[in-house]
Amino acid sequence: MTIEASVYRGIIGQFATGVTVITTGVDGWLHGMTANAVTSVSLDPLLLLVCVDKEAHTHDHLSRAGAFTVSILAEDQQDLSRTFATSNKPEEGRLQGVGYRIGENGAPIIDGCLAAIQCEVTERTDGGDHTIFFGRVLDATAERDAPPLLFYQGKYRKLG
Ligand SMILES: Cc1cc2nc3c(=O)[nH]c(=O)nc-3n(C[C@H](O)[C@H](O)[C@H](O)COP(=O)(O)OP(=O)(O)OC[C@H]3O[C@@H](n4cnc5c(N)ncnc54)[C@H](O)[C@@H]3O)c2cc1C
Repeated sequence: MTIEASVYRGIIGQFATGVTVITTGVDGWLHGMTANAVTSVSLDPLLLLVCVDKEAHTHDHLSRAGAFTVSILAEDQQDLSRTFATSNKPEEGRLQGVGYRIGENGAPIIDGCLAAIQCEVTERTDGGDHTIFFGRVLDATAERDAPPLLFYQGKYRKLG
């Protein structure tokens, strides 16, 4: 049985998700990428995972930094999600003009996000054209009480 990737993409797009920005800080260089392949894995120990395209710059940043932060986006942060999902020249830097503070793990926490989860990478596993990075949760903070940004059938959505 085979299924075209484009068909599969449309079908898996029925699975509604939240939207996050995964950030890293390494050698004084800060970077961020929009991601929805993020899953809470375990409560004991506290673990989550993120799947990152092997061709994406974030893959290299995450591998070298050994730490990352997940900022869960709010409904009014759709523009930020687009910014962090648009390829640009590395020297331009996506964090320019974006409000943030640096967490204890050295990665930025995006201003106005709903929650921020700081992690250190404990393990990485091959996942086809992606790598699955497991992160031990170092800190998790509720940042703002607002509705979440959703992604469903390839489009941004709102609750209700
Ligand atoms: C709602 C949403 C959820 C997403 N979830 C995920 C996710 O969970 N995991 C994930 O990995 N991505 C995800 N993405 C895509 C990701 O946000 C973008 O691909 C983003 O640009 C990656 O940033 P980067 O700086 O790491 O890589 P970039 O440098 O922006 O590269 C992104 C992709 O562009 C291609 N590319 C870059 N430069 C070149 C070049 N010079 N020539 C040819 N190809 C090039 C590469 O194939 C690479 O895969 C998501 C996007 C959206 C909108």
